[in-house]
Amino acid sequence: MKMLEYANHIIQTIEGAGGEAYIVGGAVRDMLLKRDPGDYDLATSLLPEEVMQLFPIVIPTGLEHGTVTVVLDHMPFEITTFRSETTYSDRRRPDAVTLGVSLEEDLTRRDFTINAMALKPTGLVDLFGGQDDLASKIVRTVGRAEDRFNEDALRMIRAFRFMSQLEFTLDPQTEQAITNQKHHLQSVAVERIAMEFEKLLLGPGRKTALQVMLRTGIYADMPGLDDTILNQLISLDLNGVSSDNVWTLVLVAGLRPEALRVFKRSKKQEGRAKTLAPLVQEQTLSDWQRYRLSDEELEHLNHMTGRRHEGRTSLPIRRLQDLTVNGRDMIELGLQKKQIKEALHHLERQVVDGRLENQREILLKEVMSWKNQHGTESSMH
Ligand code: ATP
Ligand code: MG
Repeated sequence: MKMLEYANHIIQTIEGAGGEAYIVGGAVRDMLLKRDPGDYDLATSLLPEEVMQLFPIVIPTGLEHGTVTVVLDHMPFEITTFRSETTYSDRRRPDAVTLGVSLEEDLTRRDFTINAMALKPTGLVDLFGGQDDLASKIVRTVGRAEDRFNEDALRMIRAFRFMSQLEFTLDPQTEQAITNQKHHLQSVAVERIAMEFEKLLLGPGRKTALQVMLRTGIYADMPGLDDTILNQLISLDLNGVSSDNVWTLVLVAGLRPEALRVFKRSKKQEGRAKTLAPLVQEQTLSDWQRYRLSDEELEHLNHMTGRRHEGRTSLPIRRLQDLTVNGRDMIELGLQKKQIKEALHHLERQVVDGRLENQREILLKEVMSWKNQHGTESSMH
């Protein structure tokens, strides 16, 4: 069975137990757009403990907000009890979620009309004109934009994210509300902003979305960003940007590496961005530059820039362990512990740059002369 059939099976099972259930949110939007939803989230009138009794494998993934995950044939389905969210005092998260409300209330708390529809095999529930906005390709808040951004300021960045992913325009009143309330973004956890911004940068409509961001001025309330960086992001044309290297793009556009840390990205993302960003503009790479990259990083670089830097297999060595000498040889030649790393690094560089052949006799001789020079230097100090 396909994922959609399993989702419908869940709906029918819940209905059989006297409840209501619908596919909601992004999956409905994607299906109406004839796109394949990555996952199917469901909403139900039943309480989490009632859902848990209906299916053999259920993981309580978010009981505090009414969510359990049903696993069918290795596929996960998030099922959340209809809920409303009350009094957002910090513009970040609801102070309290109330479970067991109506479908209407559940849809009313959602961010944009295109994300606020519910679907079951017998019909679509569209209370806010979501279908119309899909047809006219508009991102528009459910209800008054000021109120909705006041409840949760992250929605402002999500608006640009959906513009970019779907290549939609922004409803003028929604844009005006962002212009008025952009400073509230400062109260939002920076990781949440980063996650939405990443999706924005990976979307096909990122140029337009960034242009509207510029117009609203909201970028100034994000860490380290300014209009120069945004304009750079708009004009840069790096094709193969993926979530692994999207921050490379931002560094190339001018974000300072220290500011990247503020966004709290994974070590892998941060490391990759800092390694690749300085190389993106280089037409050619030296052997040493290629040596310092992993095969994967070099592949990413080629993919992003459309260049064809030669693979690392053509290098004399590909890693330190490929040298015909090792640390033990250094000890035997009488090097001090703290010199070993430095000596090996020196050999690595000589071999990679083609100044020395990777032959044991040659390298041992080089270490001796390196040691003599080095020894003289350190005895002078
Ligand atoms: P994607 O396909 O990228 O996952 P999505 O629409 O599923 O897109 P999610 O962030 O997974 O987006 O959120 C799922 C649904 O939850 C949204 O479609 C929306 O209805 C609701 N939602 C998510 N975040 C918010 C928010 N900050 N405010 C209001 N509703 C939200
Ligand atoms: Mg989703």
